[in-house]
Amino acid sequence: MKTISILVPCYNEEVVLLKFYERVQSVIKDIADCEFNFVFVNDGSTDSTVDIMRHLRKNNANVHYVNLSRNFGKEIAMIAGLDHVDSDAVIIMDADLQDPPELLPEMISWWNKGYKDVCAKRRSRDGESWFKKWSSHTYYKLLQHMTNIPIQIDVGDFRLLDRQCIEALKLFRESQRYTKGMFSWIGFDKKEILFDRDARAAGKTKWNYWKLFNLAIEGITSFTMLPLRIASILGCILSITTMIYMIYVILRTLIFGEAVRGYPSMVSIILFIGGVQIFFLGIIGEYLGRIFNETKHRPLYLVKEYDGEIVIKQKV
Ligand code: UDP
Ligand code: MG
Repeated sequence: MKTISILVPCYNEEVVLLKFYERVQSVIKDIADCEFNFVFVNDGSTDSTVDIMRHLRKNNANVHYVNLSRNFGKEIAMIAGLDHVDSDAVIIMDADLQDPPELLPEMISWWNKGYKDVCAKRRSRDGESWFKKWSSHTYYKLLQHMTNIPIQIDVGDFRLLDRQCIEALKLFRESQRYTKGMFSWIGFDKKEILFDRDARAAGKTKWNYWKLFNLAIEGITSFTMLPLRIASILGCILSITTMIYMIYVILRTLIFGEAVRGYPSMVSIILFIGGVQIFFLGIIGEYLGRIFNETKHRPLYLVKEYDGEIVIKQKV
């Protein structure tokens, strides 16, 4: 019998976690040909989320939980979970019931047909502002233009991954993670199925525009060097134009002489070039910062407790 793990990163989800568990249970009890277990990752919650996990584990040996030493963010929580999954496949789900468990049978049937990565594509997104929808759509289009790996639009982390994909993803040990891009990067046979994303069942989203903006920069800097390329090209164009202008100014001065004039144009040019330089220095800084972070080779996360046992020696 094939085994499937349900991986749930959780950060302050005490209000929905039990509800989530019960709804998933009611769906999977009807799926006869697979054995299920849960891997909850407590991402440094400050509420009683981990107590709920302990309680679930006490009543069901198929529930496992990884208790991280602090809040590391969803991207890290996901790889922490993947490191602790030992089933034939994993299904990554949000705890807030935005990813409907009713979709699981369809996902599993595609997996049985041989697909290695069955992802759920949002047909609609309830409870999200038009600005969030619009900005996310534009961003993915932009990202797609900047990189040559196909980026999946409107596809989140809700997906079923075969063991083959799990092992592939575990090889990615970069600390600033953009998991959505990694799913695309690894390839393998993908199948997209459509679903309507519900609004959060309870509790509040942990994302704000600042965090989303940072994730967006992460996505660009970890998957494309195009901004650096643009900087070089624009730098070339600017140098050539200024060179031509310089020759013109010198010739004009030699032929016609020069009464001191042109203060406004000089100031505008200095300010413009200065601005462009600082902007591109910033871009270089973004990449340099990533290099700095990756060269430290720190562990991605630390576990303080696994299934009720205190962890002294870290796995990774
Ligand atoms: N999450 C996490 N660590 C964090 C933030 C979020 O593990 O630092 C989890 C959260 O508990 C939820 C999932 O990631 O299960 C998605 O979070 P959320 O619903 O806040 O994001 P949204 O659905 O608004 O994109
Ligand atoms: Mg959510």
